[in-house]
Amino acid sequence: MSTPIRAVVWNEFVHEKEHEAVKRIYPEGMHRVIAEALEQTGDFTVQTATLEEPEHGLTKEVLEKAQILYWWGHIAHDKVKDEIVERVKQRVLEGMGLVVLHSGHFSKIFRTLMGTTCSLKWREAAEKERIWVIEPSHPIAMGLPLQEGGYFEIPHEEMYGERFEIPNPEELVFLSWFQGGEVFRSGCCWTRGAGKIFYFRPGHEAYPTYYNKTVQIILANAGRWAAERVRIPDQCPNSPALEPLPPPPAEFGQAGVIQTLEDIQ
Ligand code: ZN
Repeated sequence: MSTPIRAVVWNEFVHEKEHEAVKRIYPEGMHRVIAEALEQTGDFTVQTATLEEPEHGLTKEVLEKAQILYWWGHIAHDKVKDEIVERVKQRVLEGMGLVVLHSGHFSKIFRTLMGTTCSLKWREAAEKERIWVIEPSHPIAMGLPLQEGGYFEIPHEEMYGERFEIPNPEELVFLSWFQGGEVFRSGCCWTRGAGKIFYFRPGHEAYPTYYNKTVQIILANAGRWAAERVRIPDQCPNSPALEPLPPPPAEFGQAGVIQTLEDIQ
């Protein structure tokens, strides 16, 4: 048996405590349901973290070990400390995977890594979402129980519509259609530094989406796909030539400035 992937599921964990309707669906929080789904595959060891914990549960030690981080946030994006966002970003750049869920499109970490507004259209009307698998050979689409033609449905979801203000995904795995008419790029892959990022659209807090077995398979596939395999710490070395260099044909000046990584931090 291969070594389990070390995952951290982060949830702001606010709706589940403040809104009765959400608490009924996720009494212990969405992070617990997602964590259990990952654990049941046997491929992950999972730890959870929430906003209210010291350092939001994302200490240096926790992130150091994590190979993949799942992120659910909504009404408390602004409460996430900038220094923790920077810490997560550095880990992504050096190789940790990141799966951003649903309203996490507006999280500081996602917007920072995308470099765009990540705005979109939305409507909360408990409508049907039909999710088309448009890249069936992608690892994140493996083993999904699909309807004839290559799609699955979530009976009640919030609508997110285009335009989704993101940089073009490097790979687009899912495309959603909503009963009300809109479409949305709902399964998007990017690379930032050595890290892989996957955005997955479904998961509005008022619906039991994270109990959906197909969604659970996708979350596990995304974790396997994005999990850190190499770690490349940031460095910017002044590098001596490997072989002797001929003298330059003319005199060139040198500013003589040695700038190190610490100088820009
Ligand atoms: Zn939502």
